[in-house]
This record gives sequence, structure tokens and C-alpha cells, in this order.
Amino acid sequence: MGTGHLQIDLDALVANWKALDAASGAQVETAATVKADGYGLGVGKVARALSRAGVNRFFIAVAEEGAAMREALGPSPEIFVYSGHMPGDSDMIGDLHLTPMLNSIEQLTRHFEALPGHPFGVQLDSGMNRLGLEPAEWAAARPIVEAQGPALLQSHLACADEPDSEMNRAQLQQFIEMTEGMNTPRSIAATGGILLGPDYHLEMTRPGIGLYGGAPFDDAHPVAHLSLPVIQTRDVEPGEPVGYGCTWTAEEPTRVATVSGGYADGIIRAMGNKAVLFDGDVPCPLVGRVSMDLLTIDITHLDHVPSHLDLLCEHQTVDDIADVAGTIGYEILTSLGARYARRYSGGQG
Ligand SMILES: *Cc1c(COP(=O)(O)O)cnc(C)c1O
Repeated sequence: MGTGHLQIDLDALVANWKALDAASGAQVETAATVKADGYGLGVGKVARALSRAGVNRFFIAVAEEGAAMREALGPSPEIFVYSGHMPGDSDMIGDLHLTPMLNSIEQLTRHFEALPGHPFGVQLDSGMNRLGLEPAEWAAARPIVEAQGPALLQSHLACADEPDSEMNRAQLQQFIEMTEGMNTPRSIAATGGILLGPDYHLEMTRPGIGLYGGAPFDDAHPVAHLSLPVIQTRDVEPGEPVGYGCTWTAEEPTRVATVSGGYADGIIRAMGNKAVLFDGDVPCPLVGRVSMDLLTIDITHLDHVPSHLDLLCEHQTVDDIADVAGTIGYEILTSLGARYARRYSGGQG
């Protein structure tokens, strides 16, 4: 088999949800954000495992993601859509019974006209300036919204992964002011917000990245494990180059393993000449550029030729390789390619 093996540990996913649920506090509902195909790990398996573990409310980015969710979960769990109610969404929102988080006066109008009486939530902009009604718009819309009985009011923190940022407190304050006097459940905390402490938990939290083993949830169990098969090895003499552009040249006799996996599989090209793969506990440096389908790895120091080398393993997290590539764990996970042989373990409990 020429493809890499992506092993997804659903027990670790469930353990991460339980830990974030415990951190959210007993009175607070802990939902789950499963947008972008469950952060690249397969939304059907992810959502089913979380549902079995007791998650009743899920968040996706766009209504189109709702079909796979309903297929996985059946009719009862509540599914919120962050992008709200877009033109052309009404049938999907109605048929799949999705709950759009309405972001603007335009979306409120569209929703109330197309699907009167259908559940909805409202997203308020507390300072991130990305999605949601701003304070003045909200002041105008609030009486109509209150009359319709929203399911949820939410806002989103711009700097939740920076606990010392003044932005966090300011956004929380703004959100609390905007929702004063309403008895609708409120949510401002994703993974980072949960870790900021109880002031941020309100009535519901909605973690994403922490479930999948990513920062800022430092105590997360890793969920994705990626192992790449060695296709061929060769001995390279001093002065000989390796790979496209000849960006790496051997300084001493070097044994190079060519491994199946490349930027088409989400192994970000910026990792060239920087990343390491592991043979068990032993790091092996990536030499030369990342190709579309291949990596070249220095295994001179090994006393055997391994059948596989690991990119994601107990010694290397999604955030470790994100640092190497100059990105974040979110991008590593959501870039994991479609070519891997995916195997799921656990998640039955
Ligand atoms: C993606 C997203 C989340 C989840 O955030 P994490 O940092 O992955 O926990 C929560 N709320 C909104 C609005 C989002 O877009």
C-alpha cells in the first residue's frame, strides 16, 4: 500500500470533550464545533462519537455541512450554522432542521420571511469585526428578535488564545451588556474561552480545536496519528544533492529514505529542510523540499530501514509541525489529505 496511514483515535476525542466539559463547569452546556469535516478528521465518525458521549448540540460553518451531520446523527441533536442563513439556504435549513446563527439585519429578514417560526440564533459582534450584528444594529433589531424567541445568542473572541490580552475582558463585557435582560442562553467561549475561566462560560461553550488535540488546550490527548510508508532508500555521496531545486546537499555519506506523502496530502511545503519524522523514538530530518507526493528523509543514523516513518505521533503534535511550517494546528488538521488510508479506533462508549 503506497498511501500514508492516518489513524484517528475517537477515544482521545471523547476524552478531550469530557475534559473541556468538566472545565466548562457543571451548570454549563458543552457543545461541539465540528465544521470543516470535523476539523479534517471526518465529521460522520467524529459527530457520532461525540453524540454517544453525550453531546446534544453541534456547530458547523455552512448549511451544506448539515447533510452529513443529519446522516450521522439523525433528527434530534441541534445543529447550529455559524454563517447563518444565506441566499439559497432556506430549503436546506428547513429540510435538515438546522438552526442558523443570524449575523445581520439582512439575514434576520431573510429567515423570518422564508421560514417563519423556524428556530434560529443570533450572533453579536463584540469587537472582532468578522461576523454578527454590531451594537447599533442589535439595538434596532432586538425587539423583533426577542418576540421571535431565539435559541441562542453568541459572540466570538478574537484573542482567546492570549489570556493576557485586554481584548478578552472587553469583548465579554460588551457581549454581557448587549444581552442584558434577555433570558436566552449565551455563548462566547470556544476552546480558548473555556481556558480563560468561568466568567467566560456563560450558559454554553462550543469548543472545536481542543477536541481534536490542538492548542491552546495544552492538556489535550492527540487524536490524529500519521505514518508514511518508505518507498525506497538510497545512499547519497558527499556533494550530491537531493530533491527539487537541489536545496540540500550531502556533506557526508547519507542514507536517504523516500517516503510517500507530500504537499498534496497536506504536508505543508514550508516544512522543507525543517521538519522531522520519527522512527519510534528517533527523529529523522526531512532533507530537501517537500514534493507533491514525496518526502526525502535522512535515516543515516538508523541501524535498519524502517517500513514507515511517523509525522504525527506521541513525540510530535499537530502544533509542533505547525510551528515548523509557520502555521497553526487548525491548518495542519484541516489540510490532512483525502489520499490517506484512514482508520478509526474507539468511540463506542
Ligand atoms: C471555529 C469556531 C469555533 C471553535 O473554535 P476553536 O478555537 O476551534 O475551539 C467557535 N465559534 C466560532 C464562531 C467559530 O468560528
